[in-house]
Amino acid sequence: MHAPEPIATESLWIDNQERPGEFGTFDTPDPSTGGPLAQLARGGAVDVHTAVRSAKRAQESWARLDPNEKARILWKIGEGIMAHLEPLARTEALDVGKPISNARLIDVPRTADTFFYFSGWATKLHGETIPVRGPFLTYTTREPLGVIAAIIPWNFPLLLAARKIAPALAAGNTVVLKPPEEASLSCLLLAKIAAEAGLPPGVLNVITGLGEEAGAALVDHPDVAKVSFTGGTDTGRLIMRNAARTLKKVSLELGGKSPFILFADADVEAAAKAAVTAAFYNQGELCTCGSRLLVERSVHERVAEIVANGAKALVVGDPLDDATNIGPLVSAGHRDRVQGYVSKGDAEGARRVAGGQPATGPGFFVNPTVFDGVNEKMAIAREEIFGPVLSIIPFDNLDEAARIADATEFGLAAGVWTRDLAKAHGLAAKIRAGTVWINTYNRFDAAAPYGGMKQSGFGRENGRAVLDEVTQTKTVWVALS
Ligand code: NAD
Repeated sequence: MHAPEPIATESLWIDNQERPGEFGTFDTPDPSTGGPLAQLARGGAVDVHTAVRSAKRAQESWARLDPNEKARILWKIGEGIMAHLEPLARTEALDVGKPISNARLIDVPRTADTFFYFSGWATKLHGETIPVRGPFLTYTTREPLGVIAAIIPWNFPLLLAARKIAPALAAGNTVVLKPPEEASLSCLLLAKIAAEAGLPPGVLNVITGLGEEAGAALVDHPDVAKVSFTGGTDTGRLIMRNAARTLKKVSLELGGKSPFILFADADVEAAAKAAVTAAFYNQGELCTCGSRLLVERSVHERVAEIVANGAKALVVGDPLDDATNIGPLVSAGHRDRVQGYVSKGDAEGARRVAGGQPATGPGFFVNPTVFDGVNEKMAIAREEIFGPVLSIIPFDNLDEAARIADATEFGLAAGVWTRDLAKAHGLAAKIRAGTVWINTYNRFDAAAPYGGMKQSGFGRENGRAVLDEVTQTKTVWVALS
């Protein structure tokens, strides 16, 4: 395992300046060793008020800024992110526990792409002229909402922050970001990169701290126009309830229990290998984790064998090592929760065909675990585990596959693997999930809308769709006589 890092001490970021937190500091551990990694400012309601005031002050001039200039700054932030690829990837690997090779290949470049993509939208947001009865010129404009609170979880802090910040800024809003308490470091670095790229003071502020303190104060603040939240379903419900007090707009990207549906007429070998990546990418700490592998019965045994062997072959280890596939989970508490689901799977009578035994060592590791012979009633098939635990569920025909796919409260994503086009599109139309991947899995692009159905939330991120979430329409009537 890597040697202990010097402990990072970090402040809040308000008005492009570092500020101490009202409640002092709190510590976050290095998930690989369990030792200390960072001491972060613990923000509270007073800090939130200062940040929101700064964001509110900055908003009008940011909204009025020449759209070409806005676009140029957003593009420069993307370039700044790529210029800091290595420190950002290293920070994300250390803080979250994710393999550095993934952070270099996905987290950092996709974060930059998000700023590049939304840079283009800064010059393309316009309204319409509307033919109406009578002698009037009637037109609409797209107005920013004002100050947007962005609240995010720890599994992809940098990328999830970018998905909220970039479209909000392109549309003329300003942002107060509340990063996850478990992993805030890359968000603070992002804010500094943005300031270096020329983002004016107050346009992006970062309040580190605890959800029930800093997060709750943001949701309560009367000058916050919208809460854009990504995180757990229960937290989403609480935030929606609290936001009702001040009638804020809310968008919620919540949990998932996504099915990966493998038919016998697929390229079975390729699909089974893809199922391993779908389940274990980012240690399974992925909202779209393909945590339920539904397999047509005639190929079930062959697939289960490939998947179990694939899981056993994954390299569990130091996230800073290029060869690592699976790093530690983010915290001791989360490791214990995931390990608890392994015990639950055993107790429910599922057949464990890979992993399961607690990993040795001081860090928060869980070995990739595969359960076969799972049925849809078991907790491991219904509840979000958010760790490296896969359930294999056999099915007999398309209707049964569709029924099982829908048998959880979630509706975030699904994968369908078949060579039969009619079957693929038919199932894509039927499945209640915000994203369906056919003969692929976990594809994302800043241009492609993304979000949940059912208890996975509402609102969309990415693409043109998110711009409706961060703007409001104004209608202007001009009498022509
Ligand atoms: P979480 O809900 O515990 O926390 C998310 C954020 O909310 C954190 O920043 C936290 O501090 C804040 N928070 C907590 N209580 C709050 C409150 N009362 N008021 C305001 N803010 C509060 O989630 P987590 O454990 O950090 O992340 C895991 C969850 O995130 C999983 O359920 C996962 O599926 C979900 N997730 C969803 C997506 C998606 O796009 N749908 C993406 C990634 C993760």
